[in-house]
Amino acid sequence: MIVSLKHDADAGRVLNELAGRGLWVSRVERSASGSTVHYVIASHSQPADPADLARIDGVAEVTTPKPAHPLVAAQGPVVTVGGVKIGGASPVWMCGPCSVESEGHVLEMAQVLAKLGVTFLRGGAFKPRTSPYAFQGHGDAALGWMRRAADAAGMLVVTEALGEGHVPFVAEVADLVQVGSRNMQNFALLKAVGRAGKPVLLKRGMASTIEEWLLAGEYVLSHGASGVIFCERGIRGFDDSTRNLLDLGAVALLRHVHRLPVIVDPSHGAGRRDLVLPLGRAALSAGAAGLMIETHPDPGAALSDGPQAVPLAQLGPVLSDLGGAYAKEAVQ
Ligand code: PEP
Ligand code: MN
Repeated sequence: MIVSLKHDADAGRVLNELAGRGLWVSRVERSASGSTVHYVIASHSQPADPADLARIDGVAEVTTPKPAHPLVAAQGPVVTVGGVKIGGASPVWMCGPCSVESEGHVLEMAQVLAKLGVTFLRGGAFKPRTSPYAFQGHGDAALGWMRRAADAAGMLVVTEALGEGHVPFVAEVADLVQVGSRNMQNFALLKAVGRAGKPVLLKRGMASTIEEWLLAGEYVLSHGASGVIFCERGIRGFDDSTRNLLDLGAVALLRHVHRLPVIVDPSHGAGRRDLVLPLGRAALSAGAAGLMIETHPDPGAALSDGPQAVPLAQLGPVLSDLGGAYAKEAVQ
């Protein structure tokens, strides 16, 4: 919302009035003559009523520009996938290995995960690896393993479509189609994933702004996705003590200002299993609808991302602790 002031307005007083209504206000423009001031407003709690703001002495006009991502703006904070509400009253856990390693492996893991209250089985069949010599995933075969494991355990599947060619296969198997960080601005992929008509878990590009992320969400919705859930997984920082810089400000902004469902991935965010619990707690307090956590029965033997995998035997206490941290505030 943009509030434009009259030429003779007392800008300081108007600013105080706006702030007094609990609005977050930022000055965006002053005219060449120095007399016109515009404020942009984002409401943290209730959306502000433009008619009420227009009555403030000194205000010339209140306009609500059309958002650049209208479908995302209209979606709302809850997306239901396979009967599970993401952004509802309970936190949603998406857990599993980084890579799906074998059918037996994922079958056994799913049985344990389901008992811990994990609703989504995560795992990569097609892996985006920095090195072409690193394990690339078991591909199509792994999709079938995941589906059977999830069905046997009564779970849902979230898995990544790495390229346009994978979309039909992934969309057939997955309840929630993941777009990975490296692909957040692969527009051909976003269109193809949208056309599959499924809900999408859209990971944030590691060097993407929040606006670019929201626009990527608009791509999938405008091409037919049934919903979009944003996933913060860390952005590139300057310090390599952690693998990425988990941007919890972005989580709070998406949840509390844009009112969108956000899942946080503290595994890729930190790259170290010892930080998954504290970062998970912080993410839930910031407004995350749930967490994506990598786990493995024997992290030392994992085919990818072993250092960040929580040992499967330790996941239960971690999830119980995190359940208590879920923000209890009303979602609507
Ligand atoms: C993943 O979740 O398997 C993954 C590769 O994550 P990201 O795209 O966030 O690196
Ligand atoms: Mn991984």
